[in-house]
Amino acid sequence: MPTEPLTPVLDPYALARELSGRHLIGGELVAAASGRTFDVVNPAKGEVVGQAAFGDAADVDRAVAAAVKAQKEWAKRPVRERGRLVAECGRALQAHVEELARLITLETGKALRTESRIEAGVLSDSFVFYGGLATELKGENVPFSPTVMTITQREPIGVVGAIIPWNVPLLLMALKIAPALVAGNAVIVKSAEEAPFTVLRVCQILNGILPPGLFNMLSGMGPECGAPLVAHPKVGKITFTGSVETGRIVYRTAADKLIPVTLELGGKSPMIVMDDADLDKAVAGAVVGMRFTRQGQSCTAASRIFVHSSVHDEFVGRLKAKVDAMVMGDPMDEKTDIGTIVSPQQFERVKGYIEAGIREGGTAHTCSALPEDPSLAKGLYVRPVIFTGLTNESRLAREEIFGPVTCIIRFDDFEDVIAQANDTEYGLAATIWTNDLKKAMDATQRLEAGLVQVNQNLVVQPNISYGGIKSSGLGKEASLEAMLEHFTHKKTIMINMA
Ligand code: ADP
Repeated sequence: MPTEPLTPVLDPYALARELSGRHLIGGELVAAASGRTFDVVNPAKGEVVGQAAFGDAADVDRAVAAAVKAQKEWAKRPVRERGRLVAECGRALQAHVEELARLITLETGKALRTESRIEAGVLSDSFVFYGGLATELKGENVPFSPTVMTITQREPIGVVGAIIPWNVPLLLMALKIAPALVAGNAVIVKSAEEAPFTVLRVCQILNGILPPGLFNMLSGMGPECGAPLVAHPKVGKITFTGSVETGRIVYRTAADKLIPVTLELGGKSPMIVMDDADLDKAVAGAVVGMRFTRQGQSCTAASRIFVHSSVHDEFVGRLKAKVDAMVMGDPMDEKTDIGTIVSPQQFERVKGYIEAGIREGGTAHTCSALPEDPSLAKGLYVRPVIFTGLTNESRLAREEIFGPVTCIIRFDDFEDVIAQANDTEYGLAATIWTNDLKKAMDATQRLEAGLVQVNQNLVVQPNISYGGIKSSGLGKEASLEAMLEHFTHKKTIMINMA
C-alpha cells in the first residue's frame, strides 16, 4: 500500500535507534521471532549505536511466506508498470542520499565525502537505470519450421535471496534487487552483521512504493540467518557477494537444491605499469584502484601493482606522497579522505598481514598520519601501507587482505609480468597502464579477469557487466545481461500451426 513518503532523518544516531531491533517482513517493521538482537558499533568511536534484529530460520520462513504471496501478484503486473515503480524507488532514494550516506558512515566508518555519498548516489541511479530496462525483458523468435512457430520468453524465477557484505552494501544491494524486481521476482535481502541499518532504511523507503512483502529484509549472522535463507525450499535463486569461503558454502547448498546462484567473491587484482606509462595518471589510478579512501576494503582493490624497473622508484615515491597527503580522520568530517576499518576482527586481520609482510622481508612504506582527535582514540584506524621488496609468491601477494595494504612488485619483461599477473587463484579485475597500443591490446586479450581496463581504474557502473572468473565468482552483475541471465528463466514455446 503506498504510504506517505518518509522524511529524511539527517541524524544517523537517531535513525539507528529508530531502526533498532527490526526486520522488514510483509511490509511491516517487526522484531525477530526469537526477540533476540545484536549490537551495531560505530568503528570510528567504538560506541554501540543500536541493536539489530537477530534473524533465524523462523524469520526466514515468515519472509519467504510474504515474498511468495507478493511475487504472484507482482509478476502479473504489466512490465512497464513494474519498471515505472522501480524507477520511482530510485527517485525516492535520491531524496535520501545525504541521510543514507550519514548512516552508512556511522555503521562502517567509511568517509562521508569520499565514499558514502557517492555510494548512496549510485544506489539511486541503479534503480532508475533498471526501471528503464523493463521492456528489454524480451524473448526471441526462433527459426524452426514455417508451420511451427517457436518463441522464447523470459519469466521470473520467483523468490530471490540476496546476501550482501558490509563494504559497499548499498551499491551491491541495488545491483541485486533492482534487476530482480523489474524481472518480476520478490526479494529477501540478508544484510551484513556490521551494516544492517542503512539497508533496512532503504527497504523502509522502498516499502512506501512497492507492494508489501515483495521486498523483505532480514538482519543476522551468516550461519543462523543467511544459511536458512539459502536452504529454504521456496527460494529459487541466490545472489551472493562475500568471501570465497562462504561463497563455496552457499554454492554447495544451492547445488543440493539445484537452484541458480550468482557469486561475487574475492580478488587480488593486478595493476601493470609499463615503462612508457603516464605516471601521473598511473599513480592517481593506483589510489583509486586500491580504494585507499575505503581503506582498501574492496574485492577489486589493486593489491598487486607490478611496476617496470625503470620507473619503479619514481612510482613508489609519487604514490607514497599522494597517499601521505590523504587525511585520516572522523569519517563524518568533510575534510576526511580515509576513515576506519569496519570491525575489530578486520582490524586485527589487516594488522596481521602488515606484520607478515615485514616478516617476509618486505619494506613497509607507511603513509598518512593517524588522527589526533582524542575522541577518535578508540577508532579502528590503520595507516595505509605500500610494500616494496615482496614477490608475487609472498603471502601478501596471494591472499586477499581487504585493508589499505598494497604490494609493489618490480618487473622487467612484458611476458613475465603477464604470467605473474595471471598467477593467482582470483580473476576479478586487472588494469594495464601504457601508451603502447599493441601491448595494451595484447594484455586485454591475455589477462585472466572479468574486467580489464587500460589507462583507467573505473569503479563498478550500473550499465557495465561486472563479475569474476576463477575463484572470484560465477556470473555477472550490473547491466541488462545480468537481469536477463540471472533473474529470469527462459521458456521455449512451440506452436504447431499445421
Ligand atoms: P566477510 O567476512 O567479508 O564479511 P562473508 O562471506 O563472511 O564475508 O559475509 C558476507 C555475507 O554472507 C554476510 O551477509 C554474512 O552474514 C553472510 N554469510 C556468512 N556465512 C553465511 C552462510 N553460511 N550462509 C549464508 N550467508 C552467510
